[in-house]
Amino acid sequence: MKIICIGRNYLKHARELENDIPTEPVFFMKPDSALLLDNRHFYIPSFSNDVHYEVELVIKINRLGKTIEARYAHRYYDEVGLGVDFTARDLQRQLIEKGLPWEKAKAFDASAVLGGFVPKEELGDLTNLEFSLRKNGEVVQLGNSKDMIFSVDTIIEYISKFVTLKIGDLIYTGTPAGVGPVEINDHLEGFIGEKMMFDFLAK
Ligand code: MG
Repeated sequence: MKIICIGRNYLKHARELENDIPTEPVFFMKPDSALLLDNRHFYIPSFSNDVHYEVELVIKINRLGKTIEARYAHRYYDEVGLGVDFTARDLQRQLIEKGLPWEKAKAFDASAVLGGFVPKEELGDLTNLEFSLRKNGEVVQLGNSKDMIFSVDTIIEYISKFVTLKIGDLIYTGTPAGVGPVEINDHLEGFIGEKMMFDFLAK
């Protein structure tokens, strides 16, 4: 399986990092070794002094597909989950400055936290889905899928032009505003609506 992540998919987040607003989806990948499951501790890597949390809705692909049209994209997933796209922001800034790929800053071990999934039918309108991240009990990120620049179905259409989607592939759909650094002993909890999707400690 592969992990595909969308960058800069929420206006306020693109602005908080002083990025241009994209005119087409920006995507990058993480390897399967980046997955962190089962609410395990996230060990902050020593190569960065500025690891940021980014809470994101996650789509799990349930059938093989290539060049999928947006109007059929909903047939390729039936669950939505929540995860964290951990990012070594200091390394990412250096890489962007040099025009280099982002992998060092994005694809490191345990950088893709994955919580639970909820069936689509239980969630109702997927284009109006509220989700949030609490750090030490305080809401630090509050997002809604209605604020995505590119919808889930548009993202699937776009990615599948370039990359075949396979069963079990994950798409992290971008983070809303409010990203920030994670520190040792921080307690992170993620929610879709009121439903807790993950709950872990940084170490
Ligand atoms: Mg992200």
